[in-house]
Amino acid sequence: MIYLDNASTTKVFPEILQKLKDLSEEFFANPNSVHPEGQKCRRELEKTRDLFCEITGSSREEIVFTSCATESNNTIIKGLAEKFPEKNEIVISPIEHKSVLNPVKYLATKGYKIKFLKVDKDGVVDTDDLRKKITEKTLLVGVIHVNNETGVMQDLKTIGKICREREVFFFSDIVQSFGKMDIPFNFIDFFSVSGHKINAPKGTGLLKRSSDLEPLLHGGGQEFGIRSGTENTAGISALGEAVKIWLKRKEEFLKKTKKLEKVLINKLRQDIPEIKVVSENIKVPYITTVIFPQISGHDMVIALGREGVAVSSGSACSSGSPVPSHVLLSYGYSEKDSLSGVRFSFGQDTTEEDVNTAVEKAVKIFKKLKRFTGFSL
Ligand code: PLP
Repeated sequence: MIYLDNASTTKVFPEILQKLKDLSEEFFANPNSVHPEGQKCRRELEKTRDLFCEITGSSREEIVFTSCATESNNTIIKGLAEKFPEKNEIVISPIEHKSVLNPVKYLATKGYKIKFLKVDKDGVVDTDDLRKKITEKTLLVGVIHVNNETGVMQDLKTIGKICREREVFFFSDIVQSFGKMDIPFNFIDFFSVSGHKINAPKGTGLLKRSSDLEPLLHGGGQEFGIRSGTENTAGISALGEAVKIWLKRKEEFLKKTKKLEKVLINKLRQDIPEIKVVSENIKVPYITTVIFPQISGHDMVIALGREGVAVSSGSACSSGSPVPSHVLLSYGYSEKDSLSGVRFSFGQDTTEEDVNTAVEKAVKIFKKLKRFTGFSL
């Protein structure tokens, strides 16, 4: 299988997989127990927390381990809403991941006013619009760093500065950039990270918070009372190891993926000149969405899968009929184009040969699909 779906999830690094058994054996105890085995786990957990504090310039109480970014995003959004009920407006980009959009939509059912920020045709948030939308009632501003579908990166420093000037909380989902891109941590009050996007085991993640939050889970009061439940010491330790590896390989990864991105786009364009590469000039190199006009992206994903190539499409398939990508629609693409996107996302293992083979197969499939199916809207 040629795996070009690394924005969905990644394989655990082999060196971490090897270590995981030892870590699980060594750190099996409850880090909240006072006996020596428990305290050994506590030290390991706090060592990993210190690592994240150092990387992100945070203090210990600000870093909370969770099970995934969905949990982190929900905890931040709902936790802030409950803590500061006098603020009932949320300013958010329309191109957030569902794990941000849906808790916000849930708050809308409870009476919150949701203001969606304007984005331009490349998906860049309009900062003048942000200035206009913040009021005394704004609870938080939420803007994703690197979009998971298109790879478009937002200027978090400028957005964070505006939020600071206006004294509102700024939250960013940094799932697709953490370990891979430079992040202006000083300007972000709340963020979320997912372990499985950076070759750590699933079931690991964290959040940073710069104020008190109402917890989602009530229980033993672990993680400063923000996230009750016995911590997964071994998994968290593995997450720390994965981040260290990413930070070491970051520059090399970006250099490699810039080259792979060129191969992907140029080779596809050679055979299918009508493709549209979403936000080609302003995106990170490791995520590329290509619109294959006149065919369904979902059909392309299925057909590539049959040929041994794993990719994704942003158009979700619900109750049998594909729904256009909300991200592409927000950029101003037509409904038809928003159904035709296919995302190729590269990982640490991706090779030029993988990309060449994927392109050859995609070209053949495109020609076939266009001839035999196309689609009618
Ligand atoms: N945020 C972004 C940008 C993502 O890409 C994802 C996963 O697809 C998530 C959040 C959710 O992450 P998790 O699977 O850890 O809940």
